Amino acid sequence: MGHGGVDFSRARERLVDLLAGQGISDPVVLSAMRRVERHRFVDSALATQAYEDTSLPIGLAQTISKPGVVARMLELLRAPSATLGQPLGRVLEIGTGCGYQAAVLSAMATEVYSMERLRGLHDKARDNLRPFRLANLHLLLGDGMVGYPKGAPYAAIIAAAGGEALPATWLDQLAMGGRLVAPVHQPGGRQALTVVDKTPSGLVQRFLEPVLFVPLKSGVA
Ligand code: SAH
Repeated sequence: MGHGGVDFSRARERLVDLLAGQGISDPVVLSAMRRVERHRFVDSALATQAYEDTSLPIGLAQTISKPGVVARMLELLRAPSATLGQPLGRVLEIGTGCGYQAAVLSAMATEVYSMERLRGLHDKARDNLRPFRLANLHLLLGDGMVGYPKGAPYAAIIAAAGGEALPATWLDQLAMGGRLVAPVHQPGGRQALTVVDKTPSGLVQRFLEPVLFVPLKSGVA
C-alpha cells in the first residue's frame, strides 16, 4: 500500500501479466518485479504512470528504463544460473539511476554492486532505497567504465547505458561462466542489446534486438 493512500499492487500485477505476455517466463524475474514498487522510484507526479511499460524521466537528463527492457535483460542475465539451477551470484550494475533495477536485482542475486557516475542520482537512489533496507545492495559513486575490481569476479554484469564498445575492464571482471548484458552501439549508430558469455574457450558475443539507452559516459560528475 501507500503512496498518498493509493494501492498500486493491482497495477503492478497487471504490469507483470503484460511482461509475461511479452514472453518473459523466468519466475524469479517475474516475482522480483511483482515485489519491487516502481512508483517509489519516480517523482510523485509520475507515480500513476509507474506501471506502464515506458521509460520515465528521473532528473539530470536520465531515465528509468522501460520495465519490459529491464525484465528482458534480467532474464538474459539469469539464464546461465537458471540453467544450472543456481541462484544468481555477485552482480555488477553500471548506471544505478534512480535505483529501481538495483532493487529488482537485489531480490534475485546474492550480492549487488551498483555504480552511478552522477552524484545527484547516486544520492537520489540512496534516498529511494533506504526504506527497503536491502543489505545485499551496495551503491557506489564512480565511473562504471572502470568497473569495481574489489567486488570481482562477477557472475553477471549489466549496463543501463550504451557505449561505442564494451569496456575491456567489464570482461576482465566477469567470472568464468559469467554473463554480461549491455546495450552497445552498432555501426550506423543504433544500439543493440549485447550478450557476452565468458567460457573456457573464450568470449562468446551475440547481438540481439535494437534498444535505446542513455549514453555511457566516463568520469564522475
Ligand atoms: N537502472 C536505472 C537506469 C538509469 S539510466 C534505473 O533503474 O533507474 C542509466 C544511468 O547510467 C544514468 O543514471 C547515467 O548517469 C548512468 N551512467 C552513464 N554512464 C555511466 C558510467 N560510466 N558509470 C556509471 N553510471 C553511468
